[in-house]
Order: sequence, then structure tokens, then C-alpha cells
Amino acid sequence: MNAISLYAKPSADFEAKIVESVALLRGAAQEFAPITQASSLGAEDMVVTDLLHRFQMQSGIFVLETGKLHAETLDLLERLQSHYGREVEIYRPVAEAATAFVAENGEEAMYRSLELRKACCHIRKMEPLERALAGKRGWITGLRREQSGARAEVELIEEQAERVKINPLANWTWGDVWHYIATHQVPYNPLHDQFFPSIGCAPCTRAVTLGEDFRSGRWWWEQESAKECGLHVDGAVSSIIPIRAIA
Ligand code: SF4
Repeated sequence: MNAISLYAKPSADFEAKIVESVALLRGAAQEFAPITQASSLGAEDMVVTDLLHRFQMQSGIFVLETGKLHAETLDLLERLQSHYGREVEIYRPVAEAATAFVAENGEEAMYRSLELRKACCHIRKMEPLERALAGKRGWITGLRREQSGARAEVELIEEQAERVKINPLANWTWGDVWHYIATHQVPYNPLHDQFFPSIGCAPCTRAVTLGEDFRSGRWWWEQESAKECGLHVDGAVSSIIPIRAIA
């Protein structure tokens, strides 16, 4: 059994969702250039990259290489670049900051307190994200409402202080994602075949078991409400733009 045979199951309105996502991406690429995709190399982000490529939309793609990613994820980064024949921008933490944090707090600091975990996420994700988004008017994510309670209100377009955030898969189901991957032979992380639905840094990601929810393998030792690194749930969203504004 692999992830495709386990999960691929399109919604009745799957084709309409693709039309909606493509229209949204097309409008955003024109209206909010320069725009870029933030890819975690998870299944949703691979679908977004494939849509950008298939429909020849002008968008950068970047990855936050935290220094803590699984070997499988790093391998996928190489495969992505050769599959689509394009370079992905890679943003890494400031080496001195990461080294100093580990020297002071140890390699397993994230398990000791929420504050230390967030400090690690700040050094390895948030600060590089700021650099990746500098000068951009828009960014594209693979967020879906179904992923967690904290993401249940994700909108297709969100206006933030300095740019807009585009979530073209907000309405997609997990079954839609995998149906798309199967149909278009999109490269994906083999960890998805091993019951890792959501993949982040290696120390903070584990496989889930039957009946556990989608993000239960992320920061599993923390309370549900704390389980975001700050990239997508930080109170920065100021308002929602109706889709008709750019589609
Ligand atoms: S997910 Fe874990 S390893 Fe990655 S930056 Fe956050 S605390 Fe550090």
C-alpha cells in the first residue's frame, strides 16, 4: 500500500476545484507580482508547484531548509528541481544563530518547553521566511481548511500587513490532493507512504496511527492549540479579500 492507493479519492466537484485554484493562481500571479510559493515539499505544496508549472504561471518557489529536514525531504527537493527543470530558492537559518542556540540549549531543546521550541522555529523558520518574502507582494501556500482546527478558517486569499497570502487548495480534501498527485504523476515524499501526512523537521514529526488526526504527528508532545510554528497562524491576517477581486 502506498499513499496514492490509501488516500486518492476525488470529491464530486474535483474538476471545479481545479478550475477555481487555477483561476486564483493566474489572477494572483498577475495582480500581485512579484509572488512566490512557500513550499514545505509536503503533498499539498507539490500539487501547487505542479499547477504553477502546468499552467505556466510566473511565480518563484522557495523552501526553508531548516537544517533539520529528513533525508527523504532533501532528496525530494533535488527530484523536484530535475522534474520541473527549474531552480528552487533555498533559505537557511543564520548559521551563527543556529549554532549558538544549540550550544546554549542542546539539540533537543524543543522538547523541554514551548518557549524553546518557538525560539528554535524562529531561528530556523521565521527569520529565513522574512528574508524569503522580502520585496514580494504575494505568497502562495498549500494550506487546506481540513488540516486542523487552527486552519479551519483558511481563506483562498488573505490580506496581510505587507502582502497577500494565496491558499489555492483551501477547499481541497486530502483525497483530492492525492487524486491530483496520482493523475499527474507528481513527485512526492516517500514518508507519506509511511503514515506521515504532515512533514516538517525530523525531530518534530512522527508517523500517525489509525484514528489520529492530520497534524497529530507534528509537535505531538504539545497541546493542540500550540501546534503551529508561526508561519501560518500568527494573528498577522488583517482581512479577507473576496475571490472575485482577482479571479
Ligand atoms: S520544527 Fe522543530 S526542529 Fe524545526 S525549527 Fe521548529 S522546533 Fe526546530
